[in-house]
Amino acid sequence: MTDTTNTKTTAATAPKKPRWRFHWNHLFSEIVTTNICTGCSGCIVACPHDVLQYDDKWHPVLMGKAHVEGDDSHCVHGEKACTMCTRACPRFRDWEPEIDTHLFGRPRERTTDTELIGIYQSILLVEATNETIARLGQDGGLASAMLIFCLEKKYIDAALVNYYDKEWKATPGVAWNKEDVLRAAGSRYTYSANTLAYQEAIDTGAEKLALVGMSCQSSVPPAMMRRGARKPGKKFVLNIGLLCSKTFTDDIYENLIEAEYGVKRTEIRKVNIKGKLQLWLEKDVKDGDYLEIPLKECHPFTREGCKTCPDFSAEHADISMGGIGKYNGRTLTIVRTDTAAGILKEMQEEGWIRVWDAVDEDPGAVALMRKLAKKSRKRWPIAADNPHGPEAAAPGVTPQPPPAPAPTNPPS
Ligand SMILES: Cc1cc2nc3c(=O)[nH]c(=O)nc-3n(C[C@H](O)[C@H](O)[C@H](O)COP(=O)(O)OP(=O)(O)OC[C@H]3O[C@@H](n4cnc5c(N)ncnc54)[C@H](O)[C@@H]3O)c2cc1C
Repeated sequence: MTDTTNTKTTAATAPKKPRWRFHWNHLFSEIVTTNICTGCSGCIVACPHDVLQYDDKWHPVLMGKAHVEGDDSHCVHGEKACTMCTRACPRFRDWEPEIDTHLFGRPRERTTDTELIGIYQSILLVEATNETIARLGQDGGLASAMLIFCLEKKYIDAALVNYYDKEWKATPGVAWNKEDVLRAAGSRYTYSANTLAYQEAIDTGAEKLALVGMSCQSSVPPAMMRRGARKPGKKFVLNIGLLCSKTFTDDIYENLIEAEYGVKRTEIRKVNIKGKLQLWLEKDVKDGDYLEIPLKECHPFTREGCKTCPDFSAEHADISMGGIGKYNGRTLTIVRTDTAAGILKEMQEEGWIRVWDAVDEDPGAVALMRKLAKKSRKRWPIAADNPHGPEAAAPGVTPQPPPAPAPTNPPS
């Protein structure tokens, strides 16, 4: 007979997970005022009292009567034990190892550089076989093809994507069908938290959502699931992350592209970044309808929230996609979860995509991606380590051992 005494003793005495007690005051002092806040809008989406909104720097601020005695750092609901905003924040405390563990069962390996791009199963090059999707897509159209595939299969009811609004500003929105997805295809290099379209999708009846988002946004759904903000978190069934080294503030259009190059934002058909800002235009400028702007002229327009972001490769998405590489029409793709691997396999079997191994086909692209990931990791401010010890530094680059001292008495 098996002796269960020890098991019982162990279960009874196992240390209890400490209760999550962090609320708006902690988020405000550790994330918002320290400028670690990326503007992902996770806290705004998760707030059950609807008392948070964006300010003009994509920072959350308290609205209405939620302040305690007119103080921005104290929320009445937080004081009464509401903790949803910190549970949804993908930069709060030990966010990286916690979300890694939720998704992959362990934190990212940090003794080598292999997982600077996060934990993954494979790195591929993928192109959509449908000509329209490939043409309208930014870099091969995989993101749009996957959304259309999942809508048609009813794996998702809707997708949170990005559109141009009437003034040609990047703005979050919901895609319900193929036409919407194609209207949203392509990249806009100004910031837009697609997560914010969550409420519209839910209010209109969606239960299963895909999120397309920058790296910071793609850490929101698993942060929610890990920390018990499950009501919004469980609606996200597919998480598509975009590789990203930065986004620009909206005034880049007026103050650089129009002021220096005479091109209005409404005259731009497509934008890309490949070592420089590339613009395809409605009208001829100088020698044609294409314009290149050196990136160093764009740097002053870098959005504050991107300057401390350590995640180039959308490490907590199901699948991450980028445009690096020698093939213009192929999406550089990092497959991370079984969800993404399963959908890709079905898409390939049904002829929606062509797939190559990126390490064999374009090793230069993979090397550049790793290099850019390392550069972004260095942005994580050590001062942001907060009171919680070395784990908080996990997003940084792998610490290297000091060089061995030169021998003072060489052997004769
Ligand atoms: C701001 C930004 C910076 C990027 N930086 C890099 C980079 O440094 N290196 C790199 O390799 N790749 C980068 N990418 C990713 C790249 O531009 C493509 O999005 C990616 O390769 C997928 O291509 P695709 O053809 O599959 O996308 P598509 O099929 O065209 O789909 C793109 C999806 O992205 C959404 N989207 C567009 N603009 C935004 C936005 N501003 N915010 C949120 N969602 C948006 C669209 O709604 C659409 O659903 C960046 C993308 C963006 C938006």
